[in-house]
Amino acid sequence: MDNPNKTNGADPRADLPGEVRVRFAPSPTGYLHIGGARTALFNWLFAARNGGRFILRIEDTDFSRKVEDSTRQITSTMRWLGLQWDEGPVAGGPVGPYFQSERLDLYRKAADELKARGAAYDCYCTPEELAERREEARRLGRDPRYDGRCRNLAEEDRRRLVAEGRHSVLRLKTPKEGQTVVEDLIRGTVVFDNALLDDYVLMKSDGVPTYNFACVVDDHAMGMTHVIRADEHLSNTPKQMIIYRAFGWDPPTFAHVPMILAPDRSKLSKRHGATSVEEFQEAGYLPEAIVNYLVFLGWSPEGGEEVLSVDELRRQFSLDRVTKNAAIYDTTKLTWMNGHYIRTIDLDRLTDLSIPFLAKAGLVTEPVDPSTRSFVKAILTALRDRVKTLGELPEVTVYFFRDEFGFDPKGVQKHLSSTDAAGLLDQARAVLAGLPRFDVEACETAYRGLIESLGIKGGALIHPTRVALTGRTIGPGLFDIMALLGRERTLTRLEKASATAREGGPWPEPVDLGYPTVPGQAAKTS
Ligand code: GLU
Repeated sequence: MDNPNKTNGADPRADLPGEVRVRFAPSPTGYLHIGGARTALFNWLFAARNGGRFILRIEDTDFSRKVEDSTRQITSTMRWLGLQWDEGPVAGGPVGPYFQSERLDLYRKAADELKARGAAYDCYCTPEELAERREEARRLGRDPRYDGRCRNLAEEDRRRLVAEGRHSVLRLKTPKEGQTVVEDLIRGTVVFDNALLDDYVLMKSDGVPTYNFACVVDDHAMGMTHVIRADEHLSNTPKQMIIYRAFGWDPPTFAHVPMILAPDRSKLSKRHGATSVEEFQEAGYLPEAIVNYLVFLGWSPEGGEEVLSVDELRRQFSLDRVTKNAAIYDTTKLTWMNGHYIRTIDLDRLTDLSIPFLAKAGLVTEPVDPSTRSFVKAILTALRDRVKTLGELPEVTVYFFRDEFGFDPKGVQKHLSSTDAAGLLDQARAVLAGLPRFDVEACETAYRGLIESLGIKGGALIHPTRVALTGRTIGPGLFDIMALLGRERTLTRLEKASATAREGGPWPEPVDLGYPTVPGQAAKTS
């Protein structure tokens, strides 16, 4: 039927090479959610794998649902995830504009064409009349769908209705029999009875298209070869296919990706914690972890790997390994994956990503000077394997940056409440003060020597020292901490803790640095 590459001066698609073209078409109604991000990612990977192009189209014709700033948020989150589009806002492209609100003329022209083909008609029924008739039909147990009253209006009736000052919507003449078959790449063959379809509205009375109409006009005009989108749109697909047919166009190939459900298999909602990518970004999740996690919501690699780099995903992704079954959203898995990336990414990149979190908590000031940067790097080397999110960093590193920090009351009770402990800290201080060098090995050798000469268990000295230096019972290696703090700060802290222990307190309270570790849950106090 229709050849997307035909040479037709008026058709911008004429210049498009015969390549795979897919799109992500968000409505700017808020943040980029997990589901939307996964749809964008699947499209992006599909384009990459097939040497095609990934197009971003903003579906912003529903003015009542439009949220200020949403397009900026969605696009900036997509960039942060690395899902750069080849055509779309800012990038431009041959079949723009890429905002539906700037394409209203095109929809109007397309509407006229359908009318001229006799495939669509103006309907003058008012919303009140329609509501009344629906109500009536329901009362009588009849079909509540549009009764087709305006489908075959005589010209004089039409004129009379216009003269009454009525506005019209444009409705499609849907076939009343037969079936529409969707050959979905993921769902397989799905058959819809045409008799169940209404003569649905294509253009509203204010001249704005409905989603289904704008979507078809654009997917065609933009030369889409595949439409990969959320499962919830499967029921729109027969409606869209009928519109394609009414124009005499070939529809693209469809692929509906499975739903994402909460762990209890209910519909995912706010009560399940964070569902927008931005919340995860703010909590210190890495884009590579989110991408890796999202791709597994419905897809799995042939080799069964759990962690795959973006390059690997771009090579391996295919729709035939996307399941039909709903995917289960599990932040525990995402957090685990994030920990994996924190442990393994390039240290300089980890440092760059971490600094804003430390700065936000007031522990460093941006831009950081080279010596602070090296200090942060050294701290991360010591404890990157102990954190799962960058949001945890301020809480677990505060004592490196501040000499005033809180003490865990249980740790104090257990390890610093006796004069024995104070005495041990004094002895340790004397040994450390005399070391010719103050590094990890020297501190460790000195401690081992002291422990042995006192004939005590290692923990009897190591635990009080850790609490004295950091205020807590857990953290990176004790000698790493000493080396990072340096001799002077180490000795001062030992002295202060020993004095406070002898006086029986008071110990400063732990401070809340205001970072929840898992989005949607309350901040953890250690
Ligand atoms: N704007 C629609 C949405 O956000 C796009 C659906 C589609 O991809 O066709 O759900």
